[in-house]
Amino acid sequence: CGIVGYIGTQNAVPYLIEGLSKLEYRGYDSAGIAVNVDNQLQIFKAKGRLKNLESIVDLNLPSVVGIGHTRWATHGAPSDLNAHPHSNQNQTIAVIHNGIIENYMEIKEWLIQDKNVVFKSETDSEVIAHLIDYYYEGDLLDAVYKAVDRMQGAYAIGVISKDEPNRLVAVRKDSPLIVGLGDNENFIASDIPALLKYTRKMLLIENDEFVDLTKDGVTIYNSLKQVVKRDIFEVTWDI
Ligand code: GLU
Repeated sequence: CGIVGYIGTQNAVPYLIEGLSKLEYRGYDSAGIAVNVDNQLQIFKAKGRLKNLESIVDLNLPSVVGIGHTRWATHGAPSDLNAHPHSNQNQTIAVIHNGIIENYMEIKEWLIQDKNVVFKSETDSEVIAHLIDYYYEGDLLDAVYKAVDRMQGAYAIGVISKDEPNRLVAVRKDSPLIVGLGDNENFIASDIPALLKYTRKMLLIENDEFVDLTKDGVTIYNSLKQVVKRDIFEVTWDI
């Protein structure tokens, strides 16, 4: 029950694993990461401790963008398949989600019956990846807005796309989400301790806000897609 994300110039994998290890105290039953390697999404996930995930991931994968998740199962048993990230059928979109999508069953039935989507997991979260794929027309942020419009519940979501390797999109409602600002790199996480090793400059994201991150900058939008100004929160304490 924690999320992290990295976009920058360094190798993303160690940042994701380190960030997840700082979120371990929140409790979890499985963990996973997705990274964009040469314009392909690669996803690794494992039930159990983070070391199970570490044992199947190559720390030297050449990737500069990725997302990571520790899961506390609400829908679907703890398993490799139900662990996040989740993706659409062609694996062009990868999604991490903390929270619960209350109306997932209705969305899932629509996707299966009307769109012939094949589901891989038993989670509520998987619908998010398929919905974003369904609405995707070349702009990840647009697709996330349209997908979120159909969802009820609580969520902190991080999304990457195979086709937009320079972008990480996030959104929150009733689940925690913060942004960390670095030099030529930016981060998302569930909370501050996950990022303190890398930066003390944070943006605290509020409910119903969307975040568009590149390595060079971060833009926050409200639900009407108006740009929101947020003062930098400078962390003065240590963990
Ligand atoms: N409801 C989602 C699931 O069961 C996310 C749980 C979480 O917040 O870790 O997979």
